[in-house]
Amino acid sequence: MRSFGAAAGIILLLVFFTALPAGCRRTEEVQKTVMVMDTVVTLTASGEKADDAVRESIERLKEIDAMASTEGEQSDLKKLADAAGDGTWIPLHPEVFHMLEVSQEYSQRSNGAWDVTAGPLVKLWGIGTERAKVPTAEELASAKAKVGWQKLELNPETQCARLRATGMELDLGGIAKGFAADEVRKIYEKYGVKNGLINLGASSIYALGANAKGEAWRVGIRHPRSEEKDDRLAVVSLSDAALSTSGDYERFFEQDGVRYHHILDPRTGRPADNGAVSDTIVVDGRLPDAGMIADLLTTTVFVLGPEAGQKFLDNQPPEVRGMICDRKLRLWPAHDFKDFLQQVQRDFSVME
Ligand code: ADP
Ligand code: MG
Repeated sequence: MRSFGAAAGIILLLVFFTALPAGCRRTEEVQKTVMVMDTVVTLTASGEKADDAVRESIERLKEIDAMASTEGEQSDLKKLADAAGDGTWIPLHPEVFHMLEVSQEYSQRSNGAWDVTAGPLVKLWGIGTERAKVPTAEELASAKAKVGWQKLELNPETQCARLRATGMELDLGGIAKGFAADEVRKIYEKYGVKNGLINLGASSIYALGANAKGEAWRVGIRHPRSEEKDDRLAVVSLSDAALSTSGDYERFFEQDGVRYHHILDPRTGRPADNGAVSDTIVVDGRLPDAGMIADLLTTTVFVLGPEAGQKFLDNQPPEVRGMICDRKLRLWPAHDFKDFLQQVQRDFSVME
C-alpha cells in the first residue's frame, strides 16, 4: 500500500541562474528536487518570484501528502476506514472531497475500471512494499467484496463522506499526484510564474509556458521494456498542459515468470491484464483539474487495455489526448495524439 509522506524529506536542493539570449533581461530559473509523496519531485520555475513559488509549492505538497495518505493524524482516509459500515459521516478536507467527487465521476464513466475504493486490494497485494505477495483465492474474494465505488457516499453540502460497508478503504495513489500538480500550478500562477515544469516522479508532469530557451518543454516518455531508465519510447512537446504516464514497470514483483504490478483491475481484483504495458495521457491546461484527470485517466485506460482504452479516450473531450502501448509495443493513439509524438523509437509502431 502506498503510504505517502513517511519518508518525506528534502534530499537535494539546486538553484540555477540561467541567462536569456542577448537583448533579454536576465531571468532566474529556480529548480529544486525533493522527496515527497513517496516520489522524487523536481520543481522548475522562472520569474521574479520563482523562489517563493517553489518554496510554497513544496510546503503545499507536504500538506497534500498528509491529507491523501492512508495513515496519520491528517488522514481523512483513515477516519473513513475506521468508521466504515457504521453510518457516520466524516468531514473531509475540501481537497480530499474534490478528489473524491472527480473520482466518482470517472468511476461512473469507466464502469468501475477506475475505483478509488480499491484500497483493500491495494493493501492485500502490497505491491511496491516488502510484504508483496500473490494472495490466496479466499483472500482475494474477501478483499474484492469490500470494493465498490457505489458504496462510497459523498455529501457536497456538508463536504462529508462515508463508506457503506465494514472493511472498506480508499486509496488515492492514482490521483493525488495529479491533484498536487494542479495545486502547484495554482501557486505558480499566484506568484506570476508563467514558465515552469512541475515534475512529480516523471509520472505526473505539468508544463507551463516555455523553457529557458523560449521553447516548449520536451518531455521524454519512458520505454516500458528497456532496462535503461533513460531509454525513451518517444518525446512530446508540452506547453500549458499536464502529462501523465502509468506502466506495469513502475512497481511490480515477479513470481513464476508472471509480473504482478500495481495497477489493479477492480473487476478481477488482480493486476490489470488487458494488454497494456504503459499509457500516456496529455490534458490541455485549459481543462479544469488537468493534472488530476491526466493522472487518474492513465490508471483507468491501463485497466481498460488498448482497444477499449482507445475508444474510451476518443469519447473524452478533445482536450484529452493519449495513447496506449500494448505488449507488442504497438502504440494506440487517441484523438490527434499521433501528431504529438516525436522521435518514436524504432522498437515501436504507431497504429491508426
Ligand atoms: P504511479 O504513477 O504513482 O505509479 P498510477 O498513477 O499509475 O501510479 O496509479 C497506480 C496507483 O493507483 C496504485 O499504486 C494504487 O494506489 C492505485 N490504483 C491501482 N489500481 C487502481 C484502480 N483500478 N482505480 C483506482 N486506483 C487504483
Ligand atoms: Mg495515474
